[in-house]
Amino acid sequence: MDEENTDLPFWRTKSLDEMTPEEWESLCDGCGRCCLVKLVDEDDGDIHLTRLACSLLDIGTCRCSDYANRHEKMPDCLRIDLATVRKLDWLPASCAYRRLDEGRDLAWWHPLVSGSAQTVHQAGISIRDWSISEKGLDSEAYHRFIIADFEDS
Ligand code: SF4
Ligand code: SF4
Repeated sequence: MDEENTDLPFWRTKSLDEMTPEEWESLCDGCGRCCLVKLVDEDDGDIHLTRLACSLLDIGTCRCSDYANRHEKMPDCLRIDLATVRKLDWLPASCAYRRLDEGRDLAWWHPLVSGSAQTVHQAGISIRDWSISEKGLDSEAYHRFIIADFEDS
């Protein structure tokens, strides 16, 4: 590391693939957007993003209610790594991983910058105020909650 860079935070001095697992985890801003339910069109593979939140998501905090066991409880839960960050069109432009991979810095509202887990909500980035849980919803009704479409890539 350059001597002149020692005061910079880790996300300014390391690339994503150089980060420790702890640093990688801490980059997640807690927006909850990747926990929105996606519907995949069986015919063309297109992805329809809904405003329904995964039933394991605590919408109040936008954090997974069982993060340690999420892959056992929700087999569809995505592992967010560098490959998925580069592949997923629907991952929001606000996502910390996407921002850094595109050469952008973290925004003022990111908890690592602001020092508060609340700013991601206050800035309107999280899904807290407009998402609803899929819990108990009939799967036939999911299509009514589509908010965006992404072509199969
Ligand atoms: S979209 Fe990115 S920053 Fe937001 S919760 Fe998912 S991984 Fe974390
Ligand atoms: S299992 Fe947890 S981390 Fe995975 S999509 Fe659901 S709420 Fe999000």
